[in-house]
Amino acid sequence: MTWSKLLDDPLSFLWKAVNTRGVRLVIYTLVAAALFPSSRTLLTFVVIVSLAVLWVRDYRRTGSRNIYYLAAAIGLIALGYGAARWDVVRVNELRLAQSPWGEGINRVEDGTYTGWGEGFRGPIEVKVDVQNHRIVGLQTMEYTDLISVQDNEIEKFRRELLEKGRLEMPAEPDLYRGARLTLAGYINAIESALSKGIPGYPQYSLFSQAFLGTFIGQAPSRVTLNSLAILFAAFLVFEYALQSMLTPGTGRSINCYNCATCVGACPVKEAEGVQFPMGLVLLTRLGDYERVMELSKYCVGCGRCAAKCPIGNSGPLVISAAFTACLRERREKELEEREGVA
Ligand code: SF4
Ligand code: SF4
Repeated sequence: MTWSKLLDDPLSFLWKAVNTRGVRLVIYTLVAAALFPSSRTLLTFVVIVSLAVLWVRDYRRTGSRNIYYLAAAIGLIALGYGAARWDVVRVNELRLAQSPWGEGINRVEDGTYTGWGEGFRGPIEVKVDVQNHRIVGLQTMEYTDLISVQDNEIEKFRRELLEKGRLEMPAEPDLYRGARLTLAGYINAIESALSKGIPGYPQYSLFSQAFLGTFIGQAPSRVTLNSLAILFAAFLVFEYALQSMLTPGTGRSINCYNCATCVGACPVKEAEGVQFPMGLVLLTRLGDYERVMELSKYCVGCGRCAAKCPIGNSGPLVISAAFTACLRERREKELEEREGVA
């Protein structure tokens, strides 16, 4: 896949990109990261590990250079993270001197401010009214568990804070033992709202905001992790369905029960540590067509597996699908190389 093709023939470039499993993985991850910002650290890690596994394998087999690009991307991410962390530490030190906590409310100008914090069940948004250097209004605008926020310890803390008119830690922290994470998110949201009313309050650089927002996000909550697990299952089903459309003949491999009936019928049974033909079926499902081709030499084409498999899978069937896929890939590569020379 050459980048010049993007300009010459964008449609075929995009089609080629969609046909590449690594690209599809990145697209799924971008969708998940957009839906759940608090899962970005986890998703960045998953993408890097998955691409490393895929591309190290490609490097060993075909000498593909993708792994170098990945190593360069990891290096850039590490550099970016170092620069962003340095900026965060520097700004946090400056912020200590202008904190809106306690007496710091005297620095906050009159007005209504909104702020965000990360609670146990996701982001919390609050609206804070300040008049004559006192907090006179505090409203929770958004939280997944809004009902419990309004009914429990957090409501106690809200009343306490309005009585004091300033941001201070709870007088009796033990009262909040069951809601520590939500309380921490709530307090962070109030602090971030109040800080907007302080003139010249130190801000993180645009780079560190963009970098940390893109790659790190916030710590994933339990709701985020559960939602990600559901999304992952949906992507997996979609990916297998798409794979069977992009590579004709591989569809049935998705339905394999791992019952090993075919292994019992096959005269080969096992070669190079792979059970025949069940292992070939599983490799096809994973899209490792090159490996299926390598192992195909052991199949004697007797057809016993096809007669026994409850869903009609067979060694020859997946081998033929893998050959078709590999030949297509090789033809496209040759064509690209020829175009590159011309
Ligand atoms: S066709 Fe190949 S995979 Fe199937 S039983 Fe015969 S040797 Fe085994
Ligand atoms: S017999 Fe069919 S379903 Fe059972 S393991 Fe073999 S390929 Fe899969």
